[in-house]
Amino acid sequence: MDIRRLSTTQPDFQAQLAALTNWDDGATHAVESAVSDILKRVRSEGDQALLYYSKTLDNYPVDTVAQLEVSQARCQAALEALDPADREALEQAAARVRDYHQHQRTTSWQREESDGTVLGQQVTPLERVGIYVPGGKAAYPSSVLMNAIPADVAGVGEIVMVAPAPGGEISPMVLAAAAVARVDRLFLLGGAHAIAALAYGTKTVPAVDKIVGPGNAYVAEAKRRVFGHVGIDMVAGPSEILVICDGQTDPEWTAMDLFSQAEHDEDARALLVCPEARYLDDVQATMERLLPQMERSEIIRESLSRRGALICVRDLAEAAEVANAIAPEHLELSVIEPERLAARIHHAGAIFLGRYTPEAIGDYCAGPSHVLPTSRTARFASPLGVYDFQKVTSLIHCSEAGADSLSRIAARLAYAEGLTAHARSAEYRQK
Ligand code: NAD
Repeated sequence: MDIRRLSTTQPDFQAQLAALTNWDDGATHAVESAVSDILKRVRSEGDQALLYYSKTLDNYPVDTVAQLEVSQARCQAALEALDPADREALEQAAARVRDYHQHQRTTSWQREESDGTVLGQQVTPLERVGIYVPGGKAAYPSSVLMNAIPADVAGVGEIVMVAPAPGGEISPMVLAAAAVARVDRLFLLGGAHAIAALAYGTKTVPAVDKIVGPGNAYVAEAKRRVFGHVGIDMVAGPSEILVICDGQTDPEWTAMDLFSQAEHDEDARALLVCPEARYLDDVQATMERLLPQMERSEIIRESLSRRGALICVRDLAEAAEVANAIAPEHLELSVIEPERLAARIHHAGAIFLGRYTPEAIGDYCAGPSHVLPTSRTARFASPLGVYDFQKVTSLIHCSEAGADSLSRIAARLAYAEGLTAHARSAEYRQK
């Protein structure tokens, strides 16, 4: 198994770590220019452009965009036709995701000051949001749940989902997940043209207020470009996992946890940090042994050799420092006292505590959304959540007494800024 080996005792470790963390997620020139053309064309030609791109990029020729819409009845039928065990797993996962997000709602509040002035915030769900569910190379029913359920819990008025259907094929499980997650409208559209349709609206696809969900480089670039016209959750990069292990976990468990991210795509990043060099040797040998059993062995091999690393550290405190520098999307603490180590972590999208918490459980059914900040954005960003689908409006209600005292402060500051109308407007409210 060809995978980078690093050690914090190497004199150039910091430089190597910087190279590892300085991941350039900027789109290539080719992607930028393709996306720019697609956005312009959808904006000017609407449905006609969607028909063109559906045919040329997704090999799905249709006569009208209305034919790309999937009815709720078809989604419900897909749910009812599922293997009962699949349906049960989907519904159990959905229930857990819903339950978790019920605790995340931001609430409105008001407080009254002694002179009767009232201040507060009013929370309003977004009216219409777009959910992008990727589907170029694989189908992701779990992504339907992880994006749409937080929106539903927030009380979003209308959830419009888009998902590509290469060659007209869409996974029945994705349709079933849309029914379980209470998606209102679903269009079989993918890539940058789907993002453009949601951002600008066409005759058939309604414009939304915010677009969320992961996707490939075309989707990410399109989201970056429509931001401002609509809201977006984040610009998602390839998936990442960092496992901190104390050397006491079965090497097969650790190897498979690394594989579970590496199998997403060749750009995925899987890193193992451990104070025991011998354990790193064991995991490396175990990965070599297990790799041929994997359906996606070529993707895993490519991802680990290009982006993976086994990092030897002096102790677990140093492992936490390395994790903070990398700010991974997923962080597993496969150690004896994970809570103690978690207290040292400041930057991670999600932390999986203890040997019995593989990231895969979080991907499907633990409860929190699996849409997480990637590419070191966990330094400032949070997982997708109910708060992404709510907005806050400030409330200010001055009493007469409050207006009298506050207008004096306001007028003083307004005159200092040379804004006479502001000052006079405030002064009119003085007693
Ligand atoms: P996708 O749906 O993101 O992209 C497919 C679309 O890309 C196609 O429909 C097509 O319209 C467009 N496209 C492809 N080639 C193009 C070209 N040359 N020019 C213009 N447009 C083109 O599906 P995908 O490609 O399978 O990528 C999915 C990504 O989402 C992967 O990187 C995967 O790891 C990631 N993902 C992330 C999460 C998460 O929660 N972070 C979950 C699931 C998937």
